[in-house]
Amino acid sequence: MLEGAEASRLIKAVTEQAYNAVLITDGALSSGGPSIVYCNPAFCRMTGYERSELLGRSPRLLQGPDTDPAVIDSLRQALRQGRFWEGSTVNYRQDGEPYFVNWSISPIVDDCGQVSHFVSIQQDITSRVRAETERDMLIQALNQAHDPVLVTDRDARIVFANAAFEELTGYRTEEVIGQTPALLSSGEQGPDFYRTMWQTLNSKRPFQARFINRRKDGSRYYVEQSIAPVLNKGGSLTHFISTSWQVDELVEREKALVDMATRDKLTGLLTRRAGDDALLRAHQEHLGKDTPLSVIICDIDHFKQVNDRHGHLSGDRVIREVAGLIERQLRAGDPAIRWGGEEFLIMVQASSGVALGLAERLRSAVEHFHDPKVGQVTLSLGVAEILPGESIEQLLGRADGALYRAKRSGRNCTISAAGN
Ligand code: GH3
Ligand code: MG
Ligand code: MG
Repeated sequence: MLEGAEASRLIKAVTEQAYNAVLITDGALSSGGPSIVYCNPAFCRMTGYERSELLGRSPRLLQGPDTDPAVIDSLRQALRQGRFWEGSTVNYRQDGEPYFVNWSISPIVDDCGQVSHFVSIQQDITSRVRAETERDMLIQALNQAHDPVLVTDRDARIVFANAAFEELTGYRTEEVIGQTPALLSSGEQGPDFYRTMWQTLNSKRPFQARFINRRKDGSRYYVEQSIAPVLNKGGSLTHFISTSWQVDELVEREKALVDMATRDKLTGLLTRRAGDDALLRAHQEHLGKDTPLSVIICDIDHFKQVNDRHGHLSGDRVIREVAGLIERQLRAGDPAIRWGGEEFLIMVQASSGVALGLAERLRSAVEHFHDPKVGQVTLSLGVAEILPGESIEQLLGRADGALYRAKRSGRNCTISAAGN
């Protein structure tokens, strides 16, 4: 245990070397307040004063225009009551430069129970206050921004989301902090998409792409999103910042344009041109994966009469109705094409047996349909399955031949092509 002169010497040495500023005043509260009896070198460094300029003076000489009077009032009150006090405000250096100081004051009581001194430990917190002010300003700016901003740490855990993010996604910031942006995933972008994203980001390069995301209520939205890696001074990844802008309207317009180019206006089926492309793709798949491929070509019987008797508009309506009947019988992967005026082609990724069954269902559905003005219409159908080594043209030729034979056989019937 240290005692006496040795203790004083050591304590003084500690105070002299302390990183924090130390100030001791006497306990005089009347007539101009306490005066400084000791300050350590850290205090001189913080204030820019020489020790000799401070000794005997009131700490009030550090105050100035931006010193908060309420803070000083609360300090004086504590001193009068002989209580511990802690607070912060602006003080001024010897050269007039303001700084933020955080300090505590403890009263020192003598043997008679009287406050003989006050000891104050002080810290210049200017850079912390500036950083906090700057951060608050940036957060305010980000919250004013129209576009969603998300910040994650390097493990992709969300550490910040702005107001526009809340508005777009329906999530409140508190709900997403600590979660990963995977909670926005719609599941419509496969593992390849995310693999590319992570490869890019982990190699410290920014990643930009269109994301199909999901709001809290489950609804889907499209954003053009760019994610930038944030590196520290040592070049290590610390955060990712993602900014995005919503492109739902753009996506709708793009879809409408694609539809306009590939969908027939009257029936909504694929156009002949888009159908040709679909056939080529199906042929490639057939060749690559050895999947079966069949086609059904069908043509409305005696359609000229429909036009002649009931007019072109009724003819159009019947074409649309028949197209609708056909589409309702099909699986999603088997597209129907408006092949000609009142002629349709259906691609079936199945054997001719399956295609024949489907063709019969189509024939029957049309046969049983009754247009209020035109009455009954019927379909003739030709079915063909691709043979080894056969081209699409040869396949279509055989299906056409089968259709021709169906017409010759009295119409309203289905015929399978020769060779199947
Ligand atoms: P078949 O049983 O042999 O098929 O006799 P068809 O009268 O149906 O003869 P074909 O298939 O050769 O004639 C098709 C007719 O369909 C000719 C044309 O006037 C009419 N047509 C073609 N496209 C349209 C269209 O978009 N709207 C209307 N209303 N009629 C069309
Ligand atoms: Mg016809
Ligand atoms: Mg025809």
